[in-house]
Amino acid sequence: MYGGRRDSGGVRNFMLALVLIGLLSLFFTAHSDQEARIGLWAPFGGAAQAPVAPGGLVGVAKSRSVGADSRPQGNPLDSRNTVITQGYGVGSHAPATTWGAVDLAIDGNGDGAAEPAATMNHPIYATQSGIVALTTDSWPAGNHIWVANSHYRTGYSHLSSFGVTDGQSVHPGDLIGYVGSTGQSSGPHLDYQVWVMQGGEWVNQNPLDFGALDPGF
Ligand SMILES: [Zn+2]
Repeated sequence: MYGGRRDSGGVRNFMLALVLIGLLSLFFTAHSDQEARIGLWAPFGGAAQAPVAPGGLVGVAKSRSVGADSRPQGNPLDSRNTVITQGYGVGSHAPATTWGAVDLAIDGNGDGAAEPAATMNHPIYATQSGIVALTTDSWPAGNHIWVANSHYRTGYSHLSSFGVTDGQSVHPGDLIGYVGSTGQSSGPHLDYQVWVMQGGEWVNQNPLDFGALDPGF
């Protein structure tokens, strides 16, 4: 039965090859998922200036159900002394489709102007529920946070430091970091962005339409 043993060995080798191919494809699938997530975390710069592939974001957030608090609402500085130092879609925030944001700072003495000392290290709060993605020392966003779910994402730029870890789940009002002046910034402020998933693409929105100057969440 020499022939029989040889055939049985051939089958075994064939099965081993199948297992190897399976393991390899698992590895490459996981690898490309990882690349999609890393691409998502890059908030700005180069090709990442275009809205990121929605598939990557859905992949990050799909294990999380989207509740009533998934929509951004409220002032990420949660202060009645918040002032806007640069408006939506103007200056470095143009074009709004790519860079739309409002720059927020604190007027500590009530003179109507931003006060750097009162703004620096002011706490920043999540305005929506979602999963945190951190980017450290990027350009121009500096220390940056995305909070994202499958419907909405908010961006927080130029932080002095983080109050959350990568991949953490947060809810509106959770402390996520502190205002700074990292990246392309001439003084302490929070660059705050709101994006909405529409027709399979991320569309930039005016944060003032989401209560960005209204304390409370
Ligand atoms: Zn800005």
